[in-house]
Amino acid sequence: QLHNSIQELKGNIRVFCRVRPLLGDELYGSDGDIPHMAFTGEEHRTLELERLGEVSLSEGNGKYEFTFDRVFDPSTSQATVFEEISQLVQSALDGYNVCIFAYGQTGSGKTYTMEGPSVEDEENMGVISRALLQYEFEGSFLEIYNETIQDLLERHAADVKHDIKMTGTSGGDVMVTNLTTVQVTTENQITHLLKTASQNRAVGETQCNERSSRSHSVFRLKITGNNTITGETCKGTLNLVDLAGSERLKESGATGQRLKETQNINKSLSNLGMENHVPYRNSKLTYLLQNSLGGNSKTLMFVNVSPREDSFSETLNSLRFATKVN
Ligand code: ADP
Ligand code: MG
Repeated sequence: QLHNSIQELKGNIRVFCRVRPLLGDELYGSDGDIPHMAFTGEEHRTLELERLGEVSLSEGNGKYEFTFDRVFDPSTSQATVFEEISQLVQSALDGYNVCIFAYGQTGSGKTYTMEGPSVEDEENMGVISRALLQYEFEGSFLEIYNETIQDLLERHAADVKHDIKMTGTSGGDVMVTNLTTVQVTTENQITHLLKTASQNRAVGETQCNERSSRSHSVFRLKITGNNTITGETCKGTLNLVDLAGSERLKESGATGQRLKETQNINKSLSNLGMENHVPYRNSKLTYLLQNSLGGNSKTLMFVNVSPREDSFSETLNSLRFATKVN
């Protein structure tokens, strides 16, 4: 019998909305305010949107309101975001399969939330580094692009082509063979690890510029730490997933596989917490994470949002999707 030490949460899935600040040219002629958004409600849980300018009849008054488990406004620091999720990281040690997703259109801040702006920027480290600093762990980092898995921690990814395969185990877990596993105990090692990953990504990027927005990164951690109830040393699994951009696919860009994959991700995310059958085998990502979606799992989805007014429709789409998940 597994116990959950932290307060019982509504279901096993939580959704946090995070709006990034306006940046660079986006700030031109503004004081950083986002005129079409308002952060309201008790305990920072509501995001109001208003379509400015011309509003079509079908949109009513052009006003929308979304409530999540938490809404982070653009001034929220990485440290504050991590504070809100560190309990979830801890519950991996209480026996849960924990999965944290970043969902949102390209440019909305998914990678910033997960990894931070750059490896050198220690103040703004993302979820991955912060989780790693708290626990002893063993981890692997992979990328799924076009249904092909790349090992992001491999030393010489350009020359070596290992045969990476996923296999189910008798315990129901999915194993990835030939994947580099690293043990990390120091901050330097974390920096090195994220650098290797970004170099390996860059190798792929030359083949396709859009790769980073069309691939999923999965950081898979086996953490070791103390169970909050028993005080015993436990091992748990934590998946940190930076999803492919959620933007609606332009017809020209959407190949059959890519479209199918997007539908699968959406389906598996919106089925979280429900008994519905998820077609896990239909995509590498859902197959890999099947044990962390449903059953004995806890899931957090960040819906990352761009403050740009010209992203209004995509934002609306993302928020509507995230509301369904919640
Ligand atoms: P995505 O991974 O969703 O495509 P990124 O994480 O790359 O988006 O973010 C796009 C840009 O915005 C990057 O330059 C990133 O550093 C910046 N950014 C994102 N979120 C924030 C934030 N909360 N504070 C400051 N800059 C941010
Ligand atoms: Mg990204």
